[in-house]
Amino acid sequence: MKIHEYQAKSLLARYGVPVPRGIPCFSVTEAVDAARQLGGGLWVVKAQIHAGGRGKGGGVKVVRSAGELEATAQQMLGMQLVTHQTGPQGQKVARLLVEEGVDIRQEMYVGMVVDRQTQQVALMASAAGGMDIEEVAAHTPEKIHTMQIDPGQGLLPSQAEALARRIDVPEALVGQARDLMLGLYRAFDENDASLAEINPMVVTADGRMLALDAKFNFDDNAAFRHGEWQAWRDVDEEDPNEVEASRFGLSYISLDGNIGCLVNGAGLAMATMDIVKLYGGYPANFLDVGGGATTEKVTEAFKLMLGNPHVQAILVNIFGGIMKCDVIAEGVVAAARQVRLSVPLVVRLEGTNVELGKRILAESGLPILSAANMDDAAAQVVAAVRRS
Ligand code: ADP
Ligand code: MG
Repeated sequence: MKIHEYQAKSLLARYGVPVPRGIPCFSVTEAVDAARQLGGGLWVVKAQIHAGGRGKGGGVKVVRSAGELEATAQQMLGMQLVTHQTGPQGQKVARLLVEEGVDIRQEMYVGMVVDRQTQQVALMASAAGGMDIEEVAAHTPEKIHTMQIDPGQGLLPSQAEALARRIDVPEALVGQARDLMLGLYRAFDENDASLAEINPMVVTADGRMLALDAKFNFDDNAAFRHGEWQAWRDVDEEDPNEVEASRFGLSYISLDGNIGCLVNGAGLAMATMDIVKLYGGYPANFLDVGGGATTEKVTEAFKLMLGNPHVQAILVNIFGGIMKCDVIAEGVVAAARQVRLSVPLVVRLEGTNVELGKRILAESGLPILSAANMDDAAAQVVAAVRRS
């Protein structure tokens, strides 16, 4: 799960990480009020979307008067903000963060990620922080320093200090940078984050270390022990199909191919996508209906797949274990009727009551292509797409 910058900053602030004063806003009036509350004569209006690269895309603007702020908020709210992370269609801006403007002397990068290779949290930092960090990572990776954090010990103050010196934090501010990183690590660790970034972490003209931008991704598997995530969630930022799927207890991930896949079990779903690709096809989604698929769930799954305009054929691949093949076959038939299926449907069934299941499909009168095994299923669905 992702959250907005202003949410990430309020989380960091709880762990003692210094952040600029700022107020989230949902309207132009709120933005004008926010600037008045913050006071001063320099503000930054920041579009809140779950994507980075906002600065380069026009989603971060410095303003110097109430009039300029109002015009900027007016222009930014409701815009489709396109950044290198949103895709060409962009993301609609519905929230702003109005923040005090900071006089920046130095921009650095600090990030944390769960490193699957070492099974530890890796802390990364660079003196070359700011809006070009992607280029730094691509062309001069040696400018990014990485440190592994022992999960038993956590981030050690000595480690954080050493890293601060490596990224050219002025000697007088090494203690502040250390404390900032220790706070970041505690926030990461206690909140089951999978990724956290402060880019830029800045040195201000008046000699302070500050987290000027903040990004957090959380591990969805830990949602059960973080009640507050529910309030942080912004479904407008999520794939509408994935949101709909989660309402019905379906595990669904949109992909960019044209073969809809409906499978029971995550392992079989992965294998199905693999075999589709092996036969030269492109899966339009990952969809696991789970062990207890009902007719209702299967119908929703069909609606989801067919809601994707790129889908040209559907492959149903079910292993009937606990879930019997005849039940699934009835679900498929009912769903296909209800959604008035308009694309070729290939079904491969195996397991308990398979003969009965196949008979239900054959006698339904629907143009269902029955597959003998996974190879046959993949070959048939890829051929169906080629014909259409
Ligand atoms: P993004 O990473 O999405 O481009 P950032 O929040 O990092 O957005 O902002 C981009 C740049 O804008 C920063 O690198 C910094 O130079 C500047 N900036 C952001 N917030 C402020 C602020 N409160 N005061 C001054 N400059 C800011
Ligand atoms: Mg940034």
